[in-house]
Amino acid sequence: MIKLSSLPSLPAVRGRYEFDVPLSQSTWFRVGGPAEVIFKPADLEDLCQFLSQKPSNLSCYPLGAGSNVLVADAGLPGCVIRLGRTFATIEQQGNLVILGAGCLDRTVALTTCQWALSGLEFLVGIPGTIGGAIAMNAGAYGHEVKDRLQWVEWVTPQGKVERIAAHALNMTYREGHLPEGVIVTKAAFLCDPKPSPDIQLTLDAFLSEREKSQPIRGRTGGSTFKNPPDGLKAWQLIDQAGCRGLKIGDAQVSEKHCNFLLNLDAASAADLEQLGNTVQKRVYDQTGIMLEWEIIRLG
Ligand SMILES: Cc1cc2nc3c(=O)[nH]c(=O)nc-3n(C[C@H](O)[C@H](O)[C@H](O)COP(=O)(O)OP(=O)(O)OC[C@H]3O[C@@H](n4cnc5c(N)ncnc54)[C@H](O)[C@@H]3O)c2cc1C
Repeated sequence: MIKLSSLPSLPAVRGRYEFDVPLSQSTWFRVGGPAEVIFKPADLEDLCQFLSQKPSNLSCYPLGAGSNVLVADAGLPGCVIRLGRTFATIEQQGNLVILGAGCLDRTVALTTCQWALSGLEFLVGIPGTIGGAIAMNAGAYGHEVKDRLQWVEWVTPQGKVERIAAHALNMTYREGHLPEGVIVTKAAFLCDPKPSPDIQLTLDAFLSEREKSQPIRGRTGGSTFKNPPDGLKAWQLIDQAGCRGLKIGDAQVSEKHCNFLLNLDAASAADLEQLGNTVQKRVYDQTGIMLEWEIIRLG
């Protein structure tokens, strides 16, 4: 357990602090020990003020919907920053869509469909936020964030707001390449006009494909490993290494999609990490390919 006495004094804010909060409540795996403190800023100004005034030895970590992280059983020292409703704005300027980092990907896909704007359909089944999607360069069905992203606005660890053109990030497969410690607050995506019913057909197709192939109702972190280069698929290598359905405690390699790990009920973060490491080793022993974790292990 984290000792609260280790927490330096925090600046006065208009938002909310919560102390010693189990992160299992905020992650898709439903595992993870406590965050020493969670800060939910009231708005952008509050976030900037907090960052500029926080003690220099306080580490800060932004968390979106927690759908791509595995938090250690011992928890996370320092401050987890979570962006609430004031950071979930969706605005249209012609073919440009300006999104707050707290927007849910699904909401963005459904809203842009209503606005007859195409390009963000792939977000419909990704259970994260726009901040997380940018940090991870999230993608599905041949599309990824970097295809449509125009600019990103973030707050630096010193509390300064900056706007940067998307191409300057040099995003790559599942890597947003954000500078260390920045907190994305807003971003603009360029869409193409298209009739809503046509967009809806694509959304329906993506959702039904996902339903068929992924354990989307399970306690999972999505794809555990990145696909290796040269068109290889992580799930195929895992399957060929005999890991489909493999279990450690209540942690299991999904039978439905074997690049997904599941917390069946009472798995610990350690069980899930050990299972992932076992899969990685078995694939390596069989193929000489070292799969790279896509899920971010924290703490
Ligand atoms: C069932 C399931 C299906 C999935 N399918 C896909 C898929 O098809 N494609 C895909 O790419 N991913 C998929 N994922 C993984 C995950 O949903 C994505 O990576 C998503 O973009 C993560 O967003 P999040 O808000 O949950 O981020 P989190 O998991 O909370 O955080 C992920 C990373 O983003 C950083 N981050 C979050 N918010 C911010 C911010 N505001 N500023 C800076 N950094 C930030 C965090 O610090 C962390 O490093 C899936 C996950 C699940 C559980």
